[in-house]
Formats: sequence, C-alpha cells, structure tokens
Amino acid sequence: MIFTCYSQVEKINVPKYVRLPADSVQAKSLISSLESFLQETTKPNKENAFIWKEQLTETSALLTELKGMGNGNTPDQKSSYSCFLDNIVLMDSTDYIVQFSYMGQYQGSTGIRASFKLLAKKIDDHYSFYSPFQRNTQTWKVKKTGKIDFYYRTSLNTSLINEYVKKANEFDKKLHAPEYITKIYFCDNTQEALELLGVTYKADYNGLAHESFAAFENNQSLLIFGSNPSDPELLDIHDCWHMRLRYAVPRANINRFVDEGCAYLYGGSWGYSWPYIFNKFKLYMGSGTDWLTAYAENKNFGESAEKHLYAAYVINALLAQKIEKDKGFAGVIEFLNSGKKQKDDENYFKALNKIDEINRSNFNATIEKLIVDESVK
Ligand SMILES: [Zn+2]
Repeated sequence: MIFTCYSQVEKINVPKYVRLPADSVQAKSLISSLESFLQETTKPNKENAFIWKEQLTETSALLTELKGMGNGNTPDQKSSYSCFLDNIVLMDSTDYIVQFSYMGQYQGSTGIRASFKLLAKKIDDHYSFYSPFQRNTQTWKVKKTGKIDFYYRTSLNTSLINEYVKKANEFDKKLHAPEYITKIYFCDNTQEALELLGVTYKADYNGLAHESFAAFENNQSLLIFGSNPSDPELLDIHDCWHMRLRYAVPRANINRFVDEGCAYLYGGSWGYSWPYIFNKFKLYMGSGTDWLTAYAENKNFGESAEKHLYAAYVINALLAQKIEKDKGFAGVIEFLNSGKKQKDDENYFKALNKIDEINRSNFNATIEKLIVDESVK
C-alpha cells in the first residue's frame, strides 16, 4: 500500500444533485472536516485529529482500507480516480451519515475504485468521523471470557472457543504479554464485514469470499472475520499464535521464519497438527540431507502452493523447542527477535550462536539430532 500519495490537497467533488444540509455553515464545515480527515489518514490513526476517539479501534480498521486512496494517479497511468461526495443524511440531532466514493479509471477500466459510509459527529467547531461498526453490531450476541469477547448472531462452537481462549492465555503467559482485550466478530463473508465497517465497496476485495480485518488501538484488539462461526478454520491456533505475538513483541525485529516455526510447533498449520507436519517433513526430506542447504532452499512440502508447508519453518520449530528446553522461553523470544530475514541469514546465525551455541559449523549435526529425538517422541 502506498502512503505517500498526498503530494497535494485532494478536494472532494460535490455533484450538483447532492442535497446538502440546509444550514450552509454546517454543510461547509462538514465537507471541510471530511477533507481534513482524509488528508490526515497519512498519519498514524490515533493522531488523526478528525477521528471521534471513542471509537478509535473500529475506525482504525476502516482507515486501513481508506489509507492511500487519496490520489489515484498511479505511475503506470492505469489508474486515475477522484473522490466524490455521494450523500449526506442527518441521522439524529448531531450525527450525520456521510457517503463518498472514489471513481474514475482503475487498472485501465472505468468504474468505482471504492465507496465508503462513515458517521460524522459535531465536536466543538468541526466534525469528527467514525466507523458505523459499533452501531451496526449493537444487537449482536456476545460471549465474554475476560480476555476475549466473541460477537456473533447465530451460535458459537463452544469447544473451539474454549480451546482458542486457553491457547491465547498460554501464549500470553509465555510472552509476558501486556493485558489487553480482544474483540472477535464473526460476519458471514467479506462483503458483510466490509459493509459493517463502513466500506460499501472496494475493488481489491472483488470476488473474495472470506477475508479478515484487524486493528489494535488503546489496548484493544479488534478482529473481524469474514466467515461465520461454523467455519472450522477460523479459530486456528496457528493464527492465534501470530496474533498474540504481534501485540506482545515489537514487530520491527521479528524474524518471520522463526515466527512461522513457532506457529507450526504451537498451533500446527491448515488444521494439521505439529506431529503430522513433522512426519510429512521427515518423509519428504529423506535421509542424508544437508540441513544448512535445506534451510536456505526452504522447499514447500505441502500439498499445493496455496496450502504450503515450508522446510525452514519446521527446522525453526525444532530449534525453538530445543531453545525453550535449554534456556527457557526468554531464549525463544530472543530467537524470534533475531531481526528481519536476511538473504545470508547472518543475523539469524548470530542470534542462534549467542542463545544456544548453534552455528553454521554444528547446524547440520544439531538438526539431525533434533529430528532423531522428535521421531521417537
Ligand atoms: Zn503463519
């Protein structure tokens, strides 16, 4: 996503047929506030002065979809679109519904790039904007567990929920995670999730049935699934690990290959358990493997490109398990923090050597032994 589009102030086009509020001062204030709100989407969300902060988390999830939309003139000249005001409707004495769209040329065709529906609230001398998400879901059922609240409309699979909460607690304890509340919403599909958030349409999600949306602000994690609770893949423990890690350890230094290795070890992948993945890996790699080369090559031994299982992730799962046993979980956190993946893995090997005296010269023997040990478990 490109965040540097606002080289100049984008004005909102107001078509003649749009019936503006009768009070022209308010109408002017509303439009100029909206322009300021859109310009400030280049800042971190909590610094946007035109967001109604009481619903910052929901609005943050919406803003992820709005960011970078401002200037549709892409360098390849395949896209050129502008912002148009569609509708302003007074909702109650102070709040308005505001709808606007980005229209023009998108990837060489004429049409709607994206369309949004926000709520506006008058605060002091200007308007602040927020996502209609809370308003749209206020009649939903909720199951509160203390750490995670689940919002739904039909029914929940209690055993899946309990397992998810149990694992989230385990991970947080290991990670010394700060206390924060997670709200999980189950929508039927991508389009419903988007509409509840205030994204009426976005070309990027065209034809995609089950996408998820997330935000984290003010010690509140929001997770909106574009799938209903009957989908068994939804409350995947693998993804639970990623989510809990994401809000416990700063992301900048996380080595994604190590993160994935831990996710395999603690939560399996694609619904496969860790022992299943390990055995499949062993069978695929065969005997006499050079593990340094195998780590660098990182072959996919999954059933397809889409349902991938990667060799390097399994190797990291084995290493994380060993480090936890040798040095406690603090060692695993250090391993996770070895820094962004480098082509030569210099930082990765430096960390391994420091944590548990594993280096390029003993890597092969170490992994071979870990595989033998894991096989007899
Ligand atoms: Zn993963």
